[in-house]
Amino acid sequence: MNYISTRGNYPPVQAAEAIRLGMVPEGGLFVPGEVPQLSFEEINKHKHADYQELATWILGYFLEDFSGQELEEAVTTAYHSSNFPVEGVTPLVRLGDNTYILELWHGPTAAFKDMALQLMPELLVRAVKKSGIDREVVILVATSGDTGKAALEGFKGVDGIRIIVFYPEAGVSQIQEDQMITTGGNNTEVVAVRGNFDDCQTAVKGVFGDRDFNRTLKQNGYQFSSANSINWGRLVPQIVYYFAAYLNLLEAGKIEERQLIDIVVPTGNFGNILAGYYASRMGLPVNKFICASNENKVLTDFLRTGVYDIKRDFKKTISPSMDILISSNLERFLFEVTGHDSQKIRYWYNQLREQGGFEIDSGTLKEIQSLFVGEFARETEVKQIIKTTFEQYNYLVDPHTGVGLSCLQSLRKARLSDRITVVDSTANPFKFGRAVLEALTGEVQEGDDYLILERLQEFTGWELHRGLAGLRTASPRHSRNCRPTGVPAEIEDILGL
Ligand SMILES: *Cc1c(COP(=O)(O)O)cnc(C)c1O
Repeated sequence: MNYISTRGNYPPVQAAEAIRLGMVPEGGLFVPGEVPQLSFEEINKHKHADYQELATWILGYFLEDFSGQELEEAVTTAYHSSNFPVEGVTPLVRLGDNTYILELWHGPTAAFKDMALQLMPELLVRAVKKSGIDREVVILVATSGDTGKAALEGFKGVDGIRIIVFYPEAGVSQIQEDQMITTGGNNTEVVAVRGNFDDCQTAVKGVFGDRDFNRTLKQNGYQFSSANSINWGRLVPQIVYYFAAYLNLLEAGKIEERQLIDIVVPTGNFGNILAGYYASRMGLPVNKFICASNENKVLTDFLRTGVYDIKRDFKKTISPSMDILISSNLERFLFEVTGHDSQKIRYWYNQLREQGGFEIDSGTLKEIQSLFVGEFARETEVKQIIKTTFEQYNYLVDPHTGVGLSCLQSLRKARLSDRITVVDSTANPFKFGRAVLEALTGEVQEGDDYLILERLQEFTGWELHRGLAGLRTASPRHSRNCRPTGVPAEIEDILGL
């Protein structure tokens, strides 16, 4: 299978090369040249497969230049029970008649990013070997909090790879920051950037696209790659759990064969929901994807009106991993729904750069609305649903999952959704313990994040996720910081360029 650029500015490459490069060197993102088509019979055959078998099967369609054995080894390492100590890797929990929570946070860092980032380093190491290029890979990550730690955990100690993580100094929680700056391994670096996530991401993207910088890098025996969801290697593992969820429902007799379901995805960079879209394009029976946003509702407005407009205030919410105005993977999605029209993509993304927004044509909007619904949740609604979910079902959700549930509730009230619905749960509630406890008690909580975790355990009787235990006493190992404009200099310093 070939991978092509969304901007039509690069020759087709194989999967390994797309993963090694991260993004298209001239700008643009790699997407599969065509989406594999599966019959329902073929999907149904895997009803009793375990998660590892499902992953090897699905990845095989997209990563044709990897051998079956390579994929099996990578998948077995990534989704081993020591990384995901839970039956089925991504269990479904039933909340009321039609709602199923898909718990994607059983990995080492308590966020769903582990689903991709435990596997991606395995793929990247093999991709680099295939390329025959003997340069050390430098992974640059811009993170709004969760990606950073998940990437550090995935890449730490991996031979031939160095990883540098940039995070917005005031945009992550104390726990998220501690998770990152306490990471061991002699190939990891962490840098606090004095700006918000978009500043971070823009600065890192700028370095990726800087030819002179890339030349200097090559001369010094390095090459860049990316662990952000702009890298296909980050996206493709996420397609698997949509199949896993559907087949679990089928096996448990909760749905009939071929029954269409709705899927709610708390969305930031549009990676998770895009993976779901690919699953549906492959033949998974999905009625609607509900794209759930917090008060940074650029995507809600876009899906309703066709106007993508980032000229608005950036809001800090209790679901910080979704505090994003520029959703990188939307570009891939638009490329797909326009039937691979790279001319349109170039035009829209020029407008985005020059004018802070663009408007798609009505034909494309109609096409999108046939499968996607945009909804958003206000902060008060998110807090409310965290509380009522706990009271009604004795089930604890984090604020990102809360956004998803609140959006679903709004749609159900408006009678827009009554189907069996899977809601992606993207973080363990303790990862955002303060917001969760404040939502449950209705009171502002004093004290540091760790005290809050203790109180939340007492209040709920829930167990602390293992990735957060022991963090309090771990010593910091990273202390770098810079302004957004200082990102290139920081990389030079770290790599000794
Ligand atoms: C990253 C993240 C999201 C957003 O996922 P995207 O793939 O960027 O849309 C939602 N919730 C949590 C907890 C996250 O870490």
